[in-house]
Amino acid sequence: MSKSLEGRTALVTGSTSGIGLGIALAFAREGAKVMLNGFGTPDAISAARGEVAAIAGGETPYSGADLSKAEGVRQMCTEAEAALGRVDILVNNAGIQFVSPVEEFPDAKWDAILAINLSSNFHAIKALLPGMKARNWGRIVNVASAHGLVASPFKAAYVAAKHGVVGLTKTVAIEVARTPITCNAICPGFVRTPLAEAQVGPLAQKHGVSEEAALTDFLLEKQPSKRWVEVDEVAQMALYLCGPNSGAVNGAALSIDGAWTAS
Ligand code: NAD
Repeated sequence: MSKSLEGRTALVTGSTSGIGLGIALAFAREGAKVMLNGFGTPDAISAARGEVAAIAGGETPYSGADLSKAEGVRQMCTEAEAALGRVDILVNNAGIQFVSPVEEFPDAKWDAILAINLSSNFHAIKALLPGMKARNWGRIVNVASAHGLVASPFKAAYVAAKHGVVGLTKTVAIEVARTPITCNAICPGFVRTPLAEAQVGPLAQKHGVSEEAALTDFLLEKQPSKRWVEVDEVAQMALYLCGPNSGAVNGAALSIDGAWTAS
């Protein structure tokens, strides 16, 4: 059976761990040549590159660019075009979080979250869309969040940035609507990543409950399914959006959140 991304090239930001790495692996399995980006220890980065290379063969291109700065995003896009020849698929996934009441929210955290979670998407799209238009094909997937659609307290910057990502997605989608390029957002609820799972133990201790209760009653309080969304479930959604059967899906903010935003 032919692979759905055979011959395609993809840049996945924030792909040294978690959801981004899951998307990169799923794309590689479907035949895409993928460039990784993100931070981590040298060992973690070479492990991520090795995981992708074990599927795709050869060397996995990697950019360590800091996406908190416009110049860093542009540098990553230039590196990607050089390493891959062209970028057919852009997945804007890198993101950070910080939690605080709004009146105490540190200015520097606000600026960093807006820069990494929102502005980096804008700068990468601006840099790579001209090539997609010239080749008359492209896919842009922005990893937003359930917090791109609804709010939670103490997450002012994250919620503002993710709502911004959904707005940016819709705008770009309309601008490219007459071309074979699409731009969509994925809005996950709580996804089982090492960082997210590590919150369960401390929550159980804090509330004096079992880890199971800490998960369902506290961490997944807003997620009616009461189970994690799995990284590969998000990756499969990204794969669908970049595959051959999704050309009419454009400007969507697709929820994958165990009915969180339905409630
Ligand atoms: P993660 O911390 O495992 O991965 C984040 C990635 O972004 C890492 O590769 C990290 O190195 C990279 N990154 C951070 N700052 C960067 C910078 N300045 N420049 C370049 N790279 C940088 O997190 P994750 O849970 O996999 O999250 C990935 C995306 O999914 C984020 O945008 C997050 O908001 C979103 N998301 C996560 C969940 C969840 O439950 N895990 C839910 C909804 C949305």
